Amino acid sequence: ARQQKEIAQNAAGKIGEFIEHRVAELILVSEIERFWEMRMEDHKRALYRLLKHDAQIREVSVANSAGQEILRLSRLRVHTDADLVSLAQEEKFRRAMDGEIYIGPVYHEVTAEPFVTLAVPVRFTPTEIRGVIVAEVGLKALLNSVSHTKAGKSGYLFVVDRKGTLIAHPDYSKVLLQLNLSQINEVEEFLRTPGSDPGFGEVHRGVDGKQVITTHAAVPRPNWAVVVEEPVETALAEVKQVERVALLMLVLALSGVFGISYFFSERIARPVRALEHGASLIAQGVLDQKLDVHTGDELEILARRFNQMAEALKESRGGLERKITERTRDLSALYAALAPLSAAGNDELLQIIVERLKEATGADAALIRVFDKEKNAFVYPAHVGFPSSYLEATRDLRENSAIGQAFMTGEPVVVANIAEDSRVKAKRQLEAGYESCAFLPLRVSGELRGIIHLASREIGHFSEDKTDHLIAIARQMGVAMENRELYEHLRQKVNELQQKTEGLERADKVKDEFLSVMSHELRTPLNVVMGYTAMIKDGMFGETNPEQEGALENVLGQANDLLTMITSILYATSIETQELRTEPHRFALGDFLNDLRTAYDPPRDKALALRWTYPPDLPGVETDREKLKYILHNLIHNAIKFTDRGQVTISAMIREGRGQTITDGDQQPANGKEEELIEFKVADTGIGISQEKLPLIFEKFHQIDSSDTRPYGGIGLGLYVAKNFTELLGGKIELETEQGKGSTFTVNIPCVIGSAATDGNQENEQ
Ligand code: ADP
Repeated sequence: ARQQKEIAQNAAGKIGEFIEHRVAELILVSEIERFWEMRMEDHKRALYRLLKHDAQIREVSVANSAGQEILRLSRLRVHTDADLVSLAQEEKFRRAMDGEIYIGPVYHEVTAEPFVTLAVPVRFTPTEIRGVIVAEVGLKALLNSVSHTKAGKSGYLFVVDRKGTLIAHPDYSKVLLQLNLSQINEVEEFLRTPGSDPGFGEVHRGVDGKQVITTHAAVPRPNWAVVVEEPVETALAEVKQVERVALLMLVLALSGVFGISYFFSERIARPVRALEHGASLIAQGVLDQKLDVHTGDELEILARRFNQMAEALKESRGGLERKITERTRDLSALYAALAPLSAAGNDELLQIIVERLKEATGADAALIRVFDKEKNAFVYPAHVGFPSSYLEATRDLRENSAIGQAFMTGEPVVVANIAEDSRVKAKRQLEAGYESCAFLPLRVSGELRGIIHLASREIGHFSEDKTDHLIAIARQMGVAMENRELYEHLRQKVNELQQKTEGLERADKVKDEFLSVMSHELRTPLNVVMGYTAMIKDGMFGETNPEQEGALENVLGQANDLLTMITSILYATSIETQELRTEPHRFALGDFLNDLRTAYDPPRDKALALRWTYPPDLPGVETDREKLKYILHNLIHNAIKFTDRGQVTISAMIREGRGQTITDGDQQPANGKEEELIEFKVADTGIGISQEKLPLIFEKFHQIDSSDTRPYGGIGLGLYVAKNFTELLGGKIELETEQGKGSTFTVNIPCVIGSAATDGNQENEQ
C-alpha cells in the first residue's frame, strides 16, 4: 500500500510538473518585453520560439482583449488570417480575461491523441489585461508514460479529471470511451474531498469490478487524480507466499525450539531424575547405589557430591552400627557378668567376677589385686589367665610402676601397647606374652581397695577410647563386691539373731513347763498345811493360847499369799500356753460382792478403811465368776498392799452404753438376755504409779520395784493375769493414777443381765 501511494504521488507529481511547466512557459512568453506592445512580427517570433522549444505544444494563438485572434501558429499547418476566429464567447478566453490560468478538459483529436487547452492572460498592468495566449498541449507522451508505470506485480495506474472522467489508462480504448469512473470508490473519494490527503491501501471494487487494493494521489492543478489499483489476489499473492514461507519458517523454528528444548530438558531432566532417585534412596537408607551422571556440568558435580555424601553416611552409619554392636555386646557381657553374683559365696563370687570380667572385656587374663596394708603387698583373691610366676613377681607395690601409679592416684591406666609405653617400666607382662593391658581402680564403699588388672595378647586391645567403658565395668565390680559384703554382713547378723531367738524360745518353754508343774505340785501340800493350821487354830487338836492363835493366823495369812502367788503362776502359764477357757455361770452380782467383801478385814497394822459401795438391787449376771473374782481380788489385794493410810474404795454398777447408769431394777429388758456393761472400780490413796512406769505394770513378772530391799512382796504376775482375764471376758481394764496420791483401776465387763436380782443357788466362796 505504501508503495502504491508512492507510485501515485510520483505520477501525480509528474503530471503537475508537466502542466506547471507549460503554464510557466506561456506566462513567460506573455511577459516578454511587454508582449502586448510588440509588433506582429515580434509576436510571431516569440510564438515560433515556443513551438520550437516545446514539442508538446501543437498550436498556440494570441487573442486581443475583444477576443479576436490576432495570430495563430501551428506545428502542423500554416494558418492564414482567414483562419483567425473570435474567441470572445469561449470559456478559455473569458476565464483568462478574468485573470485566471485556464486549463481545459482533456480532448481527443481525430488521431485519438489527447490534448488539453491552456490559456493565460496577457497583462498591461497587474490589473489590466490586454489579451490572451492560448495553447493546445499534447498529453500523449505524458499520459502514456504515466499509464504504463508499473505498480507491483499486476498493478496499474489510471488518471481521472476533475469530473471523474478517465483520461489515462493502460487500456487506451477505455480512455477513448471517455468512461466516467465517479462510481469507483477511490474516484468517488477523490471527488468528494479533492484537497485532503487521501488514505491508502484500501480494498475496494476496481475498474474491472474485481476487488483491488487501491490508492490515489491528487494533482492540484489541473485537479486530476492518479489512481493505482492492484487486484487483491495478485497483490496478496506475494504476501500469501511470504505468509507461507513465514509459516514454514515458524514451523521449522518451533520444531527447532522443541528439538533443542527437548534435547536440553532431557540433558537436564534425566540427570535431575537420577539425582532425585538417588536422594530418595539415601533417604530410605540405601547407601550402596552410585549415581551415574556424566553431564560434564554442575549436575555431574552435584551427583558426585551425592555419592560422596552417601559414602560418608555409609561410613558413619557403619561406624555407628559397629559402636552400637560393641556397646550392646559390652553391656550384655557386663550384665551377664554380674547377674548371678548374689547367689554365689564370697570367694566363689570373686572368682566368678574375674572370669566374667575376662569374658566381658575380651581379655586373655584378669586379676583382682587387693592391697593388704599389713603385708604392704597385693593379695590376689581371684585371678584367671596369669601365670603364677608373673603373679609372684608383681606382689609388691612399686610406686613408679604403672600398677603403682593407678593404685596411688585412683585413676585408670590403659596401655594399648606395653612394648612402647613408657609408663610400663618392668615389662614383665611382655615376658608373659601380653601386649596390651588396663589397670582400673577397684573401689568398694568408696574406699580404694586395689586394682582390677586386665591383659590381652593383642596390641591395642585396650585403648584410651575404651577407658570409659572399662571404668564403668570396674565401678560395677566394686558395687557388686560392696553388695556382696553387705549381704554377707546382714546374713551373719540374721544367723545370730536366729540362734538367740531359738534359745530364748526354748528357755521360755522350759520355764512355762517348769512353772506349771511346780505350782501344781506346790498347791497340794500348801492346801494341806493351810487345812491343818486352820484346824489347830480352831482348837480341834486342843486349846491354844492367844499367842499361839496369833502365830497361827500369821501362818494362815502368809500361806494364803503363797497360794495366791502359786495360783497366779498357774494362771499365767495357762495364759502363755493358751489353754485358758471361759466358763460362764449365772449368779447374783450382789451376792457375789457380799461374799467377796467377807474375805477382807481392814488390816490391823495400817490406818486404812475399806469402803464397799454398790446398789443393793444388783441384777443377776452371766459371766465367768472365778475369773471375775480373781480380777477383783487382785486389784483389792494390791490396793491394800500399796496403801498405808487413807482408804480403799470398791464400787460396782451397771452401765448402759457410755456413762449411763442403770440404778432402777424396773428397766431390765423383757427377754432378760440383754448385754450390759458392769463397771467395777478399785480406788486407793496409796503410793500411785509414775507415768513412765504405767505401760509396764501389766507386763509379766513386772514390778516397779524389784530390788531385794523393796518394801512390798509379790511376783509381778497379778496385773498381767487380771488384764488377760478381763480381755478374755471381753472387757477392758483401765488405770488412773498419780504418784503419791493413789490409783484407780476401772474394770468394765460386758454381761448378760438376768431377771433375778439375787440367786440363792450360787455357791459360796471356798
Ligand atoms: P505384785 O505381785 O508385785 O503385786 P502385780 O502384777 O499385781 O504384781 O503388780 C505389779 C506392780 O504394779 C506392783 O509390783 C506394783 O509396783 C504396781 N502396783 C500394782 N497395783 C498398785 C497399786 N494399787 N498402787 C501402786 N502400785 C501398784
